[in-house]
Amino acid sequence: MSHHGIGLLFTPGEHGQPEILYIRDVTITCPVCRHEQYYRWYSSAPYHPMHAQRLTQLLHKANAGLQHECEQCGEPLDERHTSRHLIHWGFAGGKGLIQGHWWRDGREQWVLQPFRHIDAQIVPDWEPAADISNVVLDQLTEEAIHDTFGRGISGKATVRRALLKRAQRPDPPSCGFTALADSTILGIFENTETDAQITTEFQRLLRHTKQAGDWHRVELNPDGALLSGFIGAPSSWLGDLPLHGLRVMIWTDAARVFEHADRILRSFPIKVRIRQLPGTPLLVLRMPNQKDTSTSPRIDPVGIAGEAARSASPIEDIVRLEIDRILHLLTGLVSPDDDDTTTPPESENEAIH
Ligand SMILES: [Zn+2]
Repeated sequence: MSHHGIGLLFTPGEHGQPEILYIRDVTITCPVCRHEQYYRWYSSAPYHPMHAQRLTQLLHKANAGLQHECEQCGEPLDERHTSRHLIHWGFAGGKGLIQGHWWRDGREQWVLQPFRHIDAQIVPDWEPAADISNVVLDQLTEEAIHDTFGRGISGKATVRRALLKRAQRPDPPSCGFTALADSTILGIFENTETDAQITTEFQRLLRHTKQAGDWHRVELNPDGALLSGFIGAPSSWLGDLPLHGLRVMIWTDAARVFEHADRILRSFPIKVRIRQLPGTPLLVLRMPNQKDTSTSPRIDPVGIAGEAARSASPIEDIVRLEIDRILHLLTGLVSPDDDDTTTPPESENEAIH
């Protein structure tokens, strides 16, 4: 069974970098007999960091590596002969689909679909679906993604945008919050703000927005130095922005991990369920027809929350990453030795056990 067969989105890539599934469809018109044919690839791209510009490049290069013979006349066909490209990109958290269309004459169109999700069996809708909830654009932008889905592709571009916006303000406030995604909040503060003041501001925000939860905070630049040394670390995507005098923090809500995990698992074709491990903060996965879960994989919600925050990822994406990692191991698609590299290294800001 392929990992697409059981619906996994993540695979371990080079150097343990998690890669996420996307689908590319191309149509090719034979230059000799004009026969039109169509090819699909299941591809993956690094999850950290993904953003609108990178996704646009993936659309333009959707024909990369094409080498075929015309089905009708045998003419060799390559990248030059593609007449249309279509890529399908779904959010790891399981809600939302972005489809990019490209035509040989240079036209491009993006269809943002909040009520669909990525699916290996997805039919290539060459004509953008006329659905009132879809947003259709000539160019993909982070703003449009955030407005449509309530989140960025990875969260990192949203952090960068918030910092750049702030730098342009003549009189920036001493603190400001931005929702990166559901249960994932960014805060930017003057470094004269103390931990106690920041905690007070955050509590005020929670009261104001009527949110409870089990929130955990990670500072991306403690004592002015960006976190580094792990996959998706801020040093790899925030190093070029001037952060002098600022503290950048991300809060994530560990109390929502169960809900996200439950929703994601219910979308799988195999029946895996999750439950709270009595007397502990841990969650346990129950595989199909499994009665005894004493040796089943555990998920630590606080570890997930910490990993999401330190890599500026929506928490639901990291829930998905962890579930896929576990299912890869259990289904034997990846040996435990291979998979060691996908476990994020330890740091003082999080605890994944
Ligand atoms: Zn032909």
